[in-house]
Amino acid sequence: MVRGLLHTRRVWLESHGAPPNFPTPMTIQKVLIEEGCISCSLCMDIAADVFDVPDGEDCVILSGAQTHFASKKADILLAAANCPVEVIAIEEDDKQISSGSE
Ligand code: SF4
Repeated sequence: MVRGLLHTRRVWLESHGAPPNFPTPMTIQKVLIEEGCISCSLCMDIAADVFDVPDGEDCVILSGAQTHFASKKADILLAAANCPVEVIAIEEDDKQISSGSE
């Protein structure tokens, strides 16, 4: 049921966009998964070139994912904005934003 709700939320956000107060970095330098991932796979569903959630394990950033940061920026931000436990952190040149920041 939770997965169904997350899917519904994702579909809504894909059509309406990320929350307007969610900061948009100019260039993504690094994507990090902080402690607390619940392995829901939502981020992988949104950006499979960047996120991987092996069975029963926490999310990881795929090796080589950095080559997709520019082309998948919108998807990465969408995943961070929708992570149910707000553990996806994004770094740009000199500052870090996370899905939990305002
Ligand atoms: S990082 Fe967030 S969205 Fe991705 S699997 Fe973990 S809890 Fe789900």
